[in-house]
Amino acid sequence: MTTTEPSKTGPTFASVDPRDGTVLAEYPIAGPEEVALAVERARAAARWWAKQGPRGRREWLLEYKRAISSRAQELASLISAETGKPDEDATLEVMLAVSHLEWAAKNADKVLRRRPVSAGLLMSNQAAYVEYQPYGVVGAIGPWNYPVFTPMGTLSYAMAAGNAVVFKPSELTPGVGVWLAEVWDSLGASQPLIQTITGDGSTGNALCRAGVDKLAFTGSAATGRKVMAACAETLTPVVIEGGGKDALLVDSDADLDAAADQAVFGAMGNAGQTCAGVERIYVHSDVHDAFVQKFTAKVRALTPGNSTSSSYGPMTLPAQVDIVRRHVKDALAKGGKAVLGGEESVGEKIVEPIVLVDVPEDSSAVTEETFGPTVVINRVADLEEAVEKANASRYGLGGSIFTGNKKRGLALAEKLDVGMVSINSFLAFAGIPSLPFGGSGDSGFGRIHGADGLREFARPKAITAQKFAAPLNLMTMTRKPRDIKIVKWMLANVQGKM
Ligand code: NAD
Repeated sequence: MTTTEPSKTGPTFASVDPRDGTVLAEYPIAGPEEVALAVERARAAARWWAKQGPRGRREWLLEYKRAISSRAQELASLISAETGKPDEDATLEVMLAVSHLEWAAKNADKVLRRRPVSAGLLMSNQAAYVEYQPYGVVGAIGPWNYPVFTPMGTLSYAMAAGNAVVFKPSELTPGVGVWLAEVWDSLGASQPLIQTITGDGSTGNALCRAGVDKLAFTGSAATGRKVMAACAETLTPVVIEGGGKDALLVDSDADLDAAADQAVFGAMGNAGQTCAGVERIYVHSDVHDAFVQKFTAKVRALTPGNSTSSSYGPMTLPAQVDIVRRHVKDALAKGGKAVLGGEESVGEKIVEPIVLVDVPEDSSAVTEETFGPTVVINRVADLEEAVEKANASRYGLGGSIFTGNKKRGLALAEKLDVGMVSINSFLAFAGIPSLPFGGSGDSGFGRIHGADGLREFARPKAITAQKFAAPLNLMTMTRKPRDIKIVKWMLANVQGKM
């Protein structure tokens, strides 16, 4: 059994299509005992996984990738049904997820295997090595906005690094989580390397307390704090992938059409429900009006709705609608202007695009994660001011810079207090598997993706092997006064000058 089975007596919950409220399926709310059982099974699976060796693991993971790819349409339809996002967006999400799975499978051995490192002058009689060993069982807790791409960023890298995974998907997207485990089972591996446990926050909390060796959480900063607090009791290490308030910066020499195109995708795509989505835009005053005009024209062409070909779908989490309304209201009350839409754009399920300008920097629309199809565009004197304003946030996930000068773009990217920056595009960093993904502040810490993402799910181990007895051996109770004299000479004449 690799997923929590429907209980005849225990509590359950329904997954619902946010487009029309159709109940898609019922799932059990796994309690502490079921979660503990899953972790126990995962421990046995991890031992089996270790025996497969790097080559075996690579082959299993590539087979898993092929199985997901060959059923991609089925998965995309399930994502659409549970989140309400259009089919094309769901398909893109699957594509991105499998590209990460492939990269992790193909690069894990190279990144994690034992490698020699320099032993240094003082210890030159030693050979020194670093190797990375799996934690064992990794617990993963996921959000609903990218229910495949986001958790697969943990699952792929954790499995490739040699771990078994127990996955708790969001209560809004349990079917996607169950599907991912079932496809693993269909490979006939005999061991439940991925187990999905369904449930709400109480199930997530139980996973934090179930003795996993590492916990990877993706969700809001507020829940991240609860996860850390629960994991702190057992010193279980955590990765926190939290929310964001990402800024897009537009310089006076930027290609405004390209910047507007990417900004619209970043702000409105997936109904704005993207952790690294564009929530703030800072534009050089020389091109501010032209940019707003181009941006607004493109936004006007969007057609949100419930059809599979809509530009974006309904709000997946009903409660988010109130947050969007509150932020828009606050921005307007504080003196901001709506150049497109307004409070009336916030429908019961669908939020029509809202473009706000001249919004005071202390408004909630600037300081808090809105997670809706709204954006704030503010004018700045230059890009130094844009960086300063972008950095005045408790979040530090990603950012985008549009400039006609790549060198200047790189210099500005260095100054942004975030984990990821794309120059002249939006979110490119998320699609490049060799790049680490993660942020700082309320956006969390730790990394998924890339070599750093593989190392996140492995413990570094230091090993030395003595090559010959050192003429100068200080690590003994029988060292001679002469040895210390030599050390003092070295400190004065060699180390001090290095
Ligand atoms: P959330 O914090 O409400 O829930 C996330 C997960 O935590 C869910 O599975 C939920 O059941 C579980 N959970 C709830 N209470 C818990 C508890 N006490 N202990 C353990 N687990 C608990 O977030 P959400 O609404 O599902 O997702 C949206 C948020 O996720 C946004 O803030 C978004 O920016 C963020 N996000 C971040 C990334 C990233 O990579 N940085 C990616 C996607 C989404």
